[in-house]
Amino acid sequence: MRVYNFSPGPAVLPREVLEQARDELLDWNGDGMSVMEVSHRGKAFVACAAEAEADLRELLAIPAGYKVLFMQGGATLQFSAIPLNLTDRDSVVDHVNTGHWSKKATSEAQRYCKVNVAADAAASKYCDLPAQTEWRLTPGAAYLHYTPNETIGGVEFPFVPEAGVPLVADMSSTILSRPLDVSRFGLIYAGAQKNIGPAGLCVVIVREELLGRARAATPSVLDFKLVADDNSMLNTPPTFGWYFAGLVFKWLKRQGGLAHMGAQNRAKAMKLYRAIDESGFYTNPVAPACRSWMNVPFTLARPELDKTFVAGARAAGLVNLEGHRSVGGMRASLYNAMPPEGVDVLVAFMGDFARRHA
Ligand SMILES: *Cc1c(COP(=O)(O)O)cnc(C)c1O
Repeated sequence: MRVYNFSPGPAVLPREVLEQARDELLDWNGDGMSVMEVSHRGKAFVACAAEAEADLRELLAIPAGYKVLFMQGGATLQFSAIPLNLTDRDSVVDHVNTGHWSKKATSEAQRYCKVNVAADAAASKYCDLPAQTEWRLTPGAAYLHYTPNETIGGVEFPFVPEAGVPLVADMSSTILSRPLDVSRFGLIYAGAQKNIGPAGLCVVIVREELLGRARAATPSVLDFKLVADDNSMLNTPPTFGWYFAGLVFKWLKRQGGLAHMGAQNRAKAMKLYRAIDESGFYTNPVAPACRSWMNVPFTLARPELDKTFVAGARAAGLVNLEGHRSVGGMRASLYNAMPPEGVDVLVAFMGDFARRHA
């Protein structure tokens, strides 16, 4: 039986897409082989890869002048690839620390160049965003890095920062959740396993003028220019992940694109936040203006009931609600593939649980 899977990642995938992948598994494209068994240089896979890129470009309305790269190593390898490509040892980059993932990106960047932490949300315990007027930006910085959605803290930027230098964004847990003005960014990157497809793929969208600046010692497979020049096939790409991402992009188009997903994601999140706020039993600690649509952490009035909550939820078909080990409590991740009915069932369960245990 399929459950409602609220995992932060690897996360729920659209049922329809899983069914299609299953149906095509033994014989993809009529050749009597699965997509995992064919050459990445063959005509069929090259066409599949190009179609996935074209559909992603259409969904995000990616303007001309941007390359789309299908890389490996997750978002974490980009924490290194980005400074290797865009800085030298003496460069200064600005980072905004708003929680777990932005701090990880910051500490990795510190191995390669000078990092100015332009703002840090520590004073709010990473439950609010530092006002942009208070950021201490470096004139002439190589770029400004930020994390639009903090997957663990459940804090999401309701705006795109003004940078004046290339804006670099780790969109792992928010890409494709709503329409986006890509032209505001120098580089966007996202590990696939939240809102795109299976783990193993990392999508990078980069302005062409940022290519060709990699340090001499940069591994070829991390050099954005070399990867772009070879259509992300410098070496064997994660073919199944790329194919599957393509199916997800087609599914998103059938749903009505990102305008539809944005409206649906907003409605899903608002329903859950309202249930939390009105319960008198559950609490979400994040400032209302920057509450994430994708990851909703919450605690119970009586933390000793956490295990009972998790067990009861599981029995109701609601799984992976445990909060991150560093935070405790609960977290419901509501990525694109979580249907609105899943949130309805969760909200009903939570209401019932609160009435029985208040
Ligand atoms: C999950 C996540 C990462 C780490 O992704 P990996 O693919 O495991 O490297 C980085 N940043 C954000 C915002 C994430 O949600």
